[in-house]
Parts: sequence; C-alpha cells; structure tokens
Amino acid sequence: MTAAIAPHPCFNSEVRHTAGRVHLPVAPDCNLKCNYCNREYDCVNESRPGVTSAVLTPEQALHYLEGVTKARPDITVAGFAGPGDPFAKPAATLRTLALVRERFPELLLCVSSNGLNLEPHIDELADLGVGHLTLTINAVDPEIGAKVYAWARYRKQVFRGLSAAQLLLGCQLAALEAAVDAGMMVKVNTILIPGVNEEHVGEVARVVAGLGAHTMNCMPMYPVVGTPFADYGSPSRAVVSAACAAAGEHVSQMAHCARCRADAVGMLGEAHTPETVDRLEEAAQWAPRSGSEFRSVAVATLEGLLVSEHLGRAHHLAVYSQNHEGVFELLAVRETPPAGTGMERWHRMAEILADCSVVLTAAAGEAPKEALATHGIQVVEWTGLISDALETLARGDRLHTFGSGLRCGAGCGGGEGC
Ligand code: SF4
Ligand code: SF4
Repeated sequence: MTAAIAPHPCFNSEVRHTAGRVHLPVAPDCNLKCNYCNREYDCVNESRPGVTSAVLTPEQALHYLEGVTKARPDITVAGFAGPGDPFAKPAATLRTLALVRERFPELLLCVSSNGLNLEPHIDELADLGVGHLTLTINAVDPEIGAKVYAWARYRKQVFRGLSAAQLLLGCQLAALEAAVDAGMMVKVNTILIPGVNEEHVGEVARVVAGLGAHTMNCMPMYPVVGTPFADYGSPSRAVVSAACAAAGEHVSQMAHCARCRADAVGMLGEAHTPETVDRLEEAAQWAPRSGSEFRSVAVATLEGLLVSEHLGRAHHLAVYSQNHEGVFELLAVRETPPAGTGMERWHRMAEILADCSVVLTAAAGEAPKEALATHGIQVVEWTGLISDALETLARGDRLHTFGSGLRCGAGCGGGEGC
C-alpha cells in the first residue's frame, strides 16, 4: 500500500467516513512559543489542537491503543500530535512509535510537528514506517515569522524574535525536504492569523510545493484566552477562501480538517465521548503489573530504607523484583557506571538495569530520564519509604510524583493542530 492511497482520513478524503484515527498524547512539552497557543485548558467539549485530558507514557499509550482498537476496529491510523511537540523531547515519541509498530504492524503511523527538531529524526521515523507527516509552517519570511513566535528552544539555547524565526524556518524547510526524500506524504498546516500572515499564505504554498509538500491545510486561527493573539479574532470566511485559493494555485488544499484535539479518537469530527475520556484516564493510571510484562524496580537509596538518593550521585541501586505472590523482594544491589562519561553513563546504566521497568529516585535530571526512557525504563521522582513505594506499585497504583501529570510544556498552550 503506498502512502498516497493509504486509508488515512486526513490525507485521503474518500475514506474520512470509514477510517478513523487515534492520537496518542505522549508529548507534553514544547520547544517553541507560538503567540496563539495556550494548552492549559482542558474541556471535553472543547475540540482544538493542543488539548488533551491526560498525558501517557509510551507503555500506557500502547495499553490505551490496545483498548481503543478493540473497541474501534475502524481505526487505521495512530497519530502523534502533542499536546506539545513530539520532538521537543523525542525519546517518548520514538519509543511509542517503536512499540506501536511492533504490536500493530498494520496501522499507519502519522506525526505532526512544528519542525524545529524534526529533521535529525527523519531517517529513524522512516525506518519505523512513519508514512504521514504534518508540518506547521506559518511563514516563509522570517520578518513575518518573528511576529508569530515569541521564542524557540534549540540545543539548550533560547532564541527570540528574528533569530528564532530564521532558525525555525531553516529547520522546517530542511525537515520537509528530508521527509519527502524519505518517501513520506507531507501535509503543511498554516494558521491564518488576522493582520499577520493572511496575505502571505500563497507564498508559503509556493515554497512548500517547491520542496515536495503533497497537500496543505489553511486553518483559521482560533483565538485563545491568555495568549498574545487572544484579541486578534478569527479571519472572516472571505479571507479564508481567498487565502485557500491563493495557496491552491501551488498545492492541493485539504478541505475537511476537523481541528483535532491531541487525544482525538475516531472519525474526523467525531465528538469526544465520556467513554473516550474514561479509557484515556484509565490508561493514564495504568502500570504493567503482572506476569512476564512486569519487570523489576531499581531504587536510588542511601541507607536502604528510603528513596533518598539523587540518580546522578547514586553509586549503587537496589533492585527489587516480585515473588510469585506479587510481593517485592530485594534481588541485588548493583553498582552504577562511573560518572563523568556524559550520556554514555545513562546508556550503560540502562544495560545494567535491563530487567527493570522503573527507577525510583529522589531526583534526576532530564538527560537520564530521556536516555533511560529510550530503553523502556521510566524514571520516577519520589521520596519516602521504599516499602510504601513498592506496595503501591505492587497494587498496580500510580505513585503520585512531583512534576508529573498533565503539563503545559513551555508555559504555552493552544496548539498548532493537525
Ligand atoms: Fe508548541 Fe503550541 Fe506552537 Fe504547537 S502551537 S508548536 S504546542 S507552542
Ligand atoms: Fe495525523 Fe494530524 Fe490526522 Fe492526527 S489529525 S492523524 S496527526 S494528520
């Protein structure tokens, strides 16, 4: 099946009433601040990009997808659309894609991104069989882009104003070209912002068509409270028609966009139901708990009683595994790899903890969290008695960690959409 004729409801309008998609909300953080975005608000009646009722880990997303596909055999696509950007912290997105590809080889995989940190991952995405990509490009003139974006965070540096817009545009165009070369179907979303880029949409279409974009979706901005563009209003129907017509001279236009939430399920435009929300919330509480699925837990502890050590300072980790009655017992105390080797330390730690699914620690930096996540090991920051934590995990309950749960990545919100 080629991507062009695939049963993807967003790229192929002929199947939009028969083929559904499910979004897996595994990417809460964002590396860009669009002036129309605010993802703080969650309301099941509100259907707009960037909004989700929960954020899932990769394993929870797979569990969720198993439930969704059982209830909805008409789902043909697993999509990744935030609620932040899937490549702000790519580890969770890439691991989820790998899990889904292995368990559901027949599903189409689709990713939506702002494009800032996308190009370095295109080859891996192609290897995982991602055939559809949506890129949001609001301007191909950095002077206009500088009005749309407050800042961009790239390789641990924050860029603002014109330099942010220049950087973003370069990354977006490189990602578009690489994705087309890798054989992906690429859709470009452009948000029509009154007084900012309405007149510029034809030029965006000309440039992206020249680089091989297959289709384009011109979306009127949805003004969101608490954002710099909150008072700009939405463009009129006439302005949207004129912009689509100008863009349509260069590339085909998508006319059936449903402005999907980051946790949308079903046919395009289908309402979010209480069952949908329940299934997502159940998945957000779910943890692997029995049989061969469950793996051991490693604990960073100073004295053997409390989860008390910072992962970066831990010289050893206590590893607990469940006996046949489901009770955790100390299995081993393992030395950690020496410090001072950068990321290599975390990848070697993952090898030492190959039988573990969770590391409990008093605190950890972003680098070990990201690195261990790529090996399927979740770092959980928690303090208290080890026995309490293990009992909680043995019951299949979730540890209430600080800094977990639904987050609005960069203090932004609103959603570029897909
Ligand atoms: Fe990030 Fe929001 Fe912009 Fe998307 S719309 S790139 S989530 S700031
Ligand atoms: Fe892909 Fe966007 Fe459609 Fe979701 S809404 S399936 S991310 S094109």
